[in-house]
Amino acid sequence: MYRFGHFGVSLLVFAPIGFLLVTAGAVELAFVTGATMVWLSTLPDVDHKLPYVTHRGPTHSLLFAAFVGGVFAAVGVFLERNLGLVVTVDGVGTVGLGAFGFLLGSVTVVAHLLGDVITPMGVNFLWPLSTKRYSLSLTPAKSTVWNYGLFALGVFAVAAATVVAIRGL
Ligand SMILES: [Zn+2]
Repeated sequence: MYRFGHFGVSLLVFAPIGFLLVTAGAVELAFVTGATMVWLSTLPDVDHKLPYVTHRGPTHSLLFAAFVGGVFAAVGVFLERNLGLVVTVDGVGTVGLGAFGFLLGSVTVVAHLLGDVITPMGVNFLWPLSTKRYSLSLTPAKSTVWNYGLFALGVFAVAAATVVAIRGL
């Protein structure tokens, strides 16, 4: 997908996560999660700019999702150990920033892969173990209707999740 399509899919994936976090009283964590997921929603497409890296190759895989999760986990552990950052959530207790960082980094990449798997070119989730590309072939990546439609849907989902989380049904 293009940029706005990826923003949309990331918002759609974030909506239920944000809902759970806000319901648990972790509004700041929800904000950080949503902002990070949107900010880095097109991170795997950095492969357009990297020499020797094929598009939708290494950076469009579950291995890359785990790698980015690892980097985020390291940042989380650093913030915890060296800067003394402690995040607590009502009813849950202290949130381990290493584990939280891993989940945030990997979900951010997986959301991008979901945005690309609906296009005919598909995604090789299991790179480098496999060469099989998975595709739902729903729309070409450049479709204006799909890109802006997904964006609108994502904004709506996050707005609805926020309202329901704060006000209840
Ligand atoms: Zn991509």
